[in-house]
Amino acid sequence: MFLVLKFGGTSVGTPQRIKDLVKLTANGTPKIVVLSAMSGTTNALVEICNALYQRNTEEAAHLTEKLRTNYKQVISELFSKKESLEKAQELVLNHFNYILAFTLDMFTANEEKAILAQGELLSTALFHYYLEESGIDSVLLPALNFMRIDKNEEPDLPYIRKYIHEELVLNSGKNLFITQGYICRNSFGEIDNLKRGGSDYSASIIGAAIKSPEIQIWTDIDGMHNNDPRIVSNTHPVSELSFDEAAELAYFGAKILHPTCILPAQKENIPVRLKNTMQPEAPGTLIANVSSEEGVKAVAAKDGITAINIKSDRMLLAHGFLRAVFEIFERFKTPIDMITTSEVAISLTVDNPKHLTLIIDELKDIAQVEIDENQTIICVVGNLPKHQSGFASKVMDALRNIPLRMVSYGGSPNNISVLVNSSLKKEALLALNKGLFNKN
Ligand code: ASP
Ligand code: MG
Repeated sequence: MFLVLKFGGTSVGTPQRIKDLVKLTANGTPKIVVLSAMSGTTNALVEICNALYQRNTEEAAHLTEKLRTNYKQVISELFSKKESLEKAQELVLNHFNYILAFTLDMFTANEEKAILAQGELLSTALFHYYLEESGIDSVLLPALNFMRIDKNEEPDLPYIRKYIHEELVLNSGKNLFITQGYICRNSFGEIDNLKRGGSDYSASIIGAAIKSPEIQIWTDIDGMHNNDPRIVSNTHPVSELSFDEAAELAYFGAKILHPTCILPAQKENIPVRLKNTMQPEAPGTLIANVSSEEGVKAVAAKDGITAINIKSDRMLLAHGFLRAVFEIFERFKTPIDMITTSEVAISLTVDNPKHLTLIIDELKDIAQVEIDENQTIICVVGNLPKHQSGFASKVMDALRNIPLRMVSYGGSPNNISVLVNSSLKKEALLALNKGLFNKN
């Protein structure tokens, strides 16, 4: 049985951090290690692609050279034996020549994806070489041989299961595997990816595919905190969360976990543990099928929200009105996050304003529409069963001095959400820290 351990960009962000991974991975327990690209790499590759889209080949070549120089430095610090350094030099040369080849030609979305894949291909190969230099046996598993999304861009689990299993059988007896997060093939067999930050998702999919006993997500923070540590100083890691609680928190802004990551693990009931590379002994957060203690566990916030108020022209929510409204959002493939209704109006929020102008134009045919930009969803998460009283009043009481644009409660027993103007976010998070966790 293989554990799945995923390390993010900062955990492989410097030669020293790559070296430090050995202690965490090469200790006898069978593992599949999933790596992100070194931090900064994917952003740099995105910039290169943008230059190529604009047909600015000079800029693309310059940016590629700059990134190559970083990698030259990394490998010179990482390897001490001549043979490994030479191997790494050749690797870096090949990957960067591959990128540079795209500067000659037309640039398409497929080529962009091929370029974006280079970061994870590099980080995993370098770690593999480093293990080899250190005399540790490991196998580099090419994610492009088994990781695949279907035509709806959903993981093709039967395919993944079959092909990862084949790779493991081919290497039976080995107990340390390294593979790329984020990258995959699509239903046409082309190189694709699981969207930015998708390495967590890779780990969860792999864990589900091999029915791993545990998936570990290693980052720079000691688990999921009870409030946003970037804004509130007095926070602590939550030791246990149910899958549903973790999903709400991840979606509503707790940056530590990719929002869709939890689903494959949850479906197979595989615990996900969030761990800190800088503090490996710390227990972190365990996300599992637990029915936890009642009460509020954590607060998270999500910025960049637009609220849309839609008032029915007929002054009544006649049947069919909601459907007409939702159909407009559906046509523009724009998901709705929060929603509240009254007899005559509804308010809803979106986090993707891309098609907003067109959506509003259509809404105006059937209703009066008002927009509030720069809103923040504050989401209070916990085990809040319906039959218990007091949760909502505690939240409202903590926020009594803050104007609330929307309030949503009862959708799930795990969440109470409010919408506030983003300028009041900090105040709201501090007020909740005081009111719910008794901290200043
Ligand atoms: N390297 C990819 C990104 O930066 C995937 C990841 O780090 O999870 O988005
Ligand atoms: Mg990254």
